[in-house]
Amino acid sequence: MRRKLVAGNWKMHGSLAANEALLGALLGLVPAAARPEIAVCVPFPYLAQVQGRLAGSPIRWGAQDVSAHAGGAYTGEVAAAMLAEFGCRYAIVGHSERRALHAETDAQVAAKYATALGAGLTPILCVGETLAERDGGVTEQVVGRQFAAVADVVGAQGLAAGVVAYEPVWAIGTGRTATPEQAQAVHAYLRGAATRRDAGMASGLRILYGGSMKPGNARELLAMADVDGGLIGGAALVAADFAAIVAAAAG
Ligand code: PEP
Repeated sequence: MRRKLVAGNWKMHGSLAANEALLGALLGLVPAAARPEIAVCVPFPYLAQVQGRLAGSPIRWGAQDVSAHAGGAYTGEVAAAMLAEFGCRYAIVGHSERRALHAETDAQVAAKYATALGAGLTPILCVGETLAERDGGVTEQVVGRQFAAVADVVGAQGLAAGVVAYEPVWAIGTGRTATPEQAQAVHAYLRGAATRRDAGMASGLRILYGGSMKPGNARELLAMADVDGGLIGGAALVAADFAAIVAAAAG
């Protein structure tokens, strides 16, 4: 049985005061022995704050990106080892906003995934198709290619140490959610792709859904056989909504 994971992606939101209020409210709402695993992925400047506030709590924390390089002359980048020093458990890699706005390639995403693993982090690999790709009937080719690019580099063992998040680009921040059946179909396809590499790894691989998940639709999405949790953007900024999704994941 795969333990569900509910991970918040705060994106570029927050302030010290707003985070304090959000974290305080969340800690009050989330049961200490929460059944799903819970995490928040925050902007780099707030890592120290979440480290201090969440240490010893059931909520883990992570970053939203990581450099593909271990260290060196890469101005503006943040190395996986630096994130590990802050107690990060997770690092999102290949979020569609980074693929689209920063032209991140599959090869760069794979390098980031591998570097995160090497530092002991758990990468959350985002894959997903645009609306044009879905309408063009190439969803499986797109997510399959994005998945394979990483799998070819890190192998089954590397995949087993990470998490995959299916995030249809057309559902992110749009209020438009994949139906549970649409999500399940792509999750099953991804698990099938993983199974062809290593059946044991694939059965334990957590595949999250992300894209306008909120309290009103979380339960039915999370009930699907291959949906092992959620990557939550907007709703992660509202303590009551995030806590409600955690409760939905608890079953
Ligand atoms: C995300 O950014 O990963 C995301 C899923 O955002 P939202 O929940 O706002 O669609």
